[in-house]
Amino acid sequence: MTKTGSLKAENSVLRERIARLEAQLAAERSQVGPPLEAEQTQFRALFESMELGVVYHDADGSISMANPAAERILGLPLDEMQGRKSIDPRWRAVREDGSDFPGEEHPAMQVLRTGKVVKNVIMGVFHSRENEIRWILITAVPEFHAGESRPYRVYATFADITALKLSDNALRESQQRYQFTVNAANVGTWDWSIQSGEVIVNERWAEMLGYTLAELAPVSIQTWINLVHPDDWKQASLVLKKHFHGEIENYQFECRMRHKHGQWVWVMDRGRVISRDSQGKPVRMLGAHTDINVLKQTEENIRTLNAELQHLAVTDFLTNLPNRRFFTERGREEFKRSRRNNQALSLFMMDIDHFKNINDNFGHEVGDQILQQVAAILKSNLREIDLPARIGGEEFVALLENTSLEDAFSSAERVRDAISKSVFRLQSHEISCTASFGVAILTDEMANLDGLIRKADDAMYRAKRAGRNRVMQ
Ligand code: GH3
Ligand code: MG
Ligand code: MG
Repeated sequence: MTKTGSLKAENSVLRERIARLEAQLAAERSQVGPPLEAEQTQFRALFESMELGVVYHDADGSISMANPAAERILGLPLDEMQGRKSIDPRWRAVREDGSDFPGEEHPAMQVLRTGKVVKNVIMGVFHSRENEIRWILITAVPEFHAGESRPYRVYATFADITALKLSDNALRESQQRYQFTVNAANVGTWDWSIQSGEVIVNERWAEMLGYTLAELAPVSIQTWINLVHPDDWKQASLVLKKHFHGEIENYQFECRMRHKHGQWVWVMDRGRVISRDSQGKPVRMLGAHTDINVLKQTEENIRTLNAELQHLAVTDFLTNLPNRRFFTERGREEFKRSRRNNQALSLFMMDIDHFKNINDNFGHEVGDQILQQVAAILKSNLREIDLPARIGGEEFVALLENTSLEDAFSSAERVRDAISKSVFRLQSHEISCTASFGVAILTDEMANLDGLIRKADDAMYRAKRAGRNRVMQ
C-alpha cells in the first residue's frame, strides 16, 4: 500500500470512531438532557477541587478514575493509577497493627463482592515519593445499573489521617510510657473529683495498704480519710488547703496510713489540682502515693544510731556515767557561766582506796563490777543538776552548780558514807571498800576549770595521806 493509501485508511478508521463516539454522545445527551449537563460540570468542579480523595474502580477492580486529591494523597499521578487493581503489590498496603492488608480485602473489593457499603476502614499505603506510609480512612460505595444487583463499579473516598494518626500514636506512646513509669516506680495513683468526692485509684494504691481494689470499692475521699492517721489527716488538710488557695504549687505530705493488718504504713502523698471552675475552685486533682516505709525505717535507724553514737561519745562504757570528755566540755561551760553570774560552783574528786588490792584479791572483773556499783552510789546521792563523771580508772568527779563549799562537803560526805557502808556481794565474796574525797570551790584566782580540779585533787591527796576514807577541802 502507498503512504497516501495507508493514511487514508487510518483516516477512515478515525472518522468511523469519531462518528461512533459522536453518536454515543448524542444518545447520552438525549437521555440526560441539558440540566444534567450543568450538574455534571458542577460535579466535575467539586470532584477536582475536593479535599477527599476519590477513586473509581471498575467491576474487575481496576481503577478507572481518580481525582487530584487522590493523586496527592497516594502520591501517584492518574495515569499510573489507572488500570491498577487493589491486589497490585505496589500499594504495599498495611493494617494499623503493621500486618499486610491483602488486596482482596480492600474495601472496594469487598463492595464489589457484596454490593454493600463499607465504611471507615483505616489503611496504610506506601507513598513512594515521600517514602513513607500514609494513613487513609476509606469508605467504599457501590454503584448499580438500574435493575442489576451486582455493582458495575465502586467509588472509594478517603481522607488522609496520617497527621491525626501520628499524634494519636504519640499520645498512646506517652500514655504507655507514663503507665510503664507508674508501674516501674510502684506508684499508687489517685484521681480525685473534688466536688463530688469521687476518687479513682489504681491497684497499687490499694495494694500498698494490703487491699485489692475490689475490697476498697467504691473509693471516695472518705476512704482516704478513714485510712489516714488522724494526726496526719489534720496536717495534710492544712497543706491541701494551701495548695487549693494557690499558696503552694504542689501538695506534698508524708503520712501514715492504716494497713489492712493494722500497722501504719508510711506513704509519700503528692498531688496537684489540674482543673478549676470559673470561680477558681478546684475541680479535679491528680496525685500519687509512694511507699516510703524503707526510707522511714532507714531514717529511724540512722536517728537511733546517731543517738547511740552521741551517747557513746560522751559516756563511760563501764559505768554509764558521763566520761572525761563530756565532763570537761560541760564543766568549762559551767565554769564560765558561774563566773559570769557570780554564782557558787563546787567540785569534789573521789578516788577509791587501795583499789589495786581489790583487783589483786578478787580479779579485774570483780573490780569492774565494784566500779559500776560505786558509780551508781555516787549518782544516786547527787541531785539531778549535779554532774558526776568517771575521769580515770577508779577516779570520779562531781561538779555541783550553785553549791557552797559547805554543801559540797556534805554531799561528798554523803557519798563517802554510802560507799563505806556498802557490802558488794560478788562471785560469792562480800567486799567492802572506801574512797577518799577532795572538795574545792570556785575562787577568784582560778583561771579555768583545771584550777578548780587541781585544788580538789590536792585536797583528795591530803585525804589519802591523812588515812583515806575521808573528805578534805
Ligand atoms: P590508793 O588510790 O588508795 O592510793 O590505792 P590504789 O590501789 O587505788 O592506787 P591507784 O589509784 O594508784 O591504783 C588504781 C588501780 O585501779 C590500778 C588499776 O589496777 C585499777 N584500775 C584502774 N582502772 C581500772 C578498771 O577499769 N577496772 C579495774 N578492775 N581496775 C582498774
Ligand atoms: Mg585509788
Ligand atoms: Mg587512782
